[in-house]
Amino acid sequence: MSAEQGGPARAVPNPPTSLDPDDWSALRADAHRMLDDMIDSIARVRERPVWQPIPDDVRARFRQTLPRDAMPLADVYADFTDHIAPYATGNVHPGFMGWVHGGGTAVGMLAEMLAAGLNANCGGRNHVGIEVERQIVRWMRELFGFPDTASGVFVTGSSMANFMALLVARSAVLGPQVREGGLAGEPLTAYASAAAHGCVVQAADLAGLGRGAMRRIPFDAAHRIDIAALRRRIAEDRAAGFRPFLVTGSAGTVDTGAIDDLAALAQLCRDEGVWFHIDGAYGSLGMLSPEIAPKLAGLSEADSIALDFHKWGQVNYDAGFLLVRDGEQHRATFAAPAAYLRRETRGLAGGSPWPCDFGPDLSRGFRALKTWFTLKTFGTERMGAMIAHTCAIARHLEARVQREPQLEMLAPVTLNIVCFRYRAPDGIDADALNAEIVADLHESGIAAPSSTTIDGQLAIRAAIVNHRTTYEDVDRMVDAVLQFGVARTS
Ligand SMILES: *Cc1c(COP(=O)(O)O)cnc(C)c1O
Repeated sequence: MSAEQGGPARAVPNPPTSLDPDDWSALRADAHRMLDDMIDSIARVRERPVWQPIPDDVRARFRQTLPRDAMPLADVYADFTDHIAPYATGNVHPGFMGWVHGGGTAVGMLAEMLAAGLNANCGGRNHVGIEVERQIVRWMRELFGFPDTASGVFVTGSSMANFMALLVARSAVLGPQVREGGLAGEPLTAYASAAAHGCVVQAADLAGLGRGAMRRIPFDAAHRIDIAALRRRIAEDRAAGFRPFLVTGSAGTVDTGAIDDLAALAQLCRDEGVWFHIDGAYGSLGMLSPEIAPKLAGLSEADSIALDFHKWGQVNYDAGFLLVRDGEQHRATFAAPAAYLRRETRGLAGGSPWPCDFGPDLSRGFRALKTWFTLKTFGTERMGAMIAHTCAIARHLEARVQREPQLEMLAPVTLNIVCFRYRAPDGIDADALNAEIVADLHESGIAAPSSTTIDGQLAIRAAIVNHRTTYEDVDRMVDAVLQFGVARTS
């Protein structure tokens, strides 16, 4: 604190009920130790297993009753180092290749600490947290070629962003009265590839349309939505009295990383007069790489894009985002008049519209800060190079799988996801074998891919999302797959 802001910390006695310490220097010492330990932990992550199961006695510790008495911070921290830190998900580790998890950065961690210190409520009002979020909105307009009238808002993740996009599309087609009167039996139908993420279907469920209203369209050999089949289904639905209103394209499917033909989808949506949303949860940030961006052609024609900074963007969890071309339509879907949220032209209640006008959350944390720190500290060039490198590692892994007679590829590699499996000898169930190999890998602590089903076959699925993962890491994973495969079949 500068002198103008009230001078150096003075010994003003705490009210006895305050939660601040009497001795700040003791807290400072604890704090420095925590920070140093965590920096060491990230710097030395390779020395630990990717993941380890939680022992029963550790799990039991989390069944204790509500703590009545105070406990020294240092003791609580010791509990953390012994019983929490060792049993985390593992996605900080370069051997983590499961699902689609970003690795986070030490920079993002520091930004989270600063945000927690400010303890800003970024639902609204006239303070700088809102300006930082607006800065990210402007940057995303720039990255995706959206107009100045586009809006954006931070949310937990793309599950929420995809749901909110469906609500905006619904308001756009039915008009503002849907917010008062509900769907009133309107036979709305929406469309996505059968390879789309489960949350895209869930969005129709949550919105009260029902899962059946989200038509699952077949995909081609490259795992891209079949555009002709989509056109046919829309025509059939119209003929049967349904009201098609939304198509969701995938920019990086969760199973294989396939990218729908977004330019063709944009054209189809214009022809059909329906909302064009893109689930760009992880793939859309490929726009940061000049090498990947051409694969995403058509992205900038979308009406809305859901994306996650916490995946390829490496921002520490959680940092999902929704971008909407027509900012007014977005606001009209969520803004609500409430006396206690009255807007003013000056003072802390100024600066409308607020983020709470663009989504269902009122109180919300300062997710924008860690995203701002990450983008500023590394810059888009370095971020793009990192993203392109994860794709290069995936191609290296694909080439290795193709060289190993015991392994086979199960899906084409578009971006950074590789689906393959160990060939089972006659008489051994390949699905069960590969599921065991994945569990063996997890328990070995060497690597943590996940599994999925491709054309009815269980695949070992490695998604290279973590910026720390190297060529050697994927080779080590393949070596272990081969070892466990042999051990289980001989
Ligand atoms: C991760 C993911 C989602 C869900 O996003 P969350 O941030 O986990 O809510 C949706 N779609 C795709 C393609 C994803 O990869």
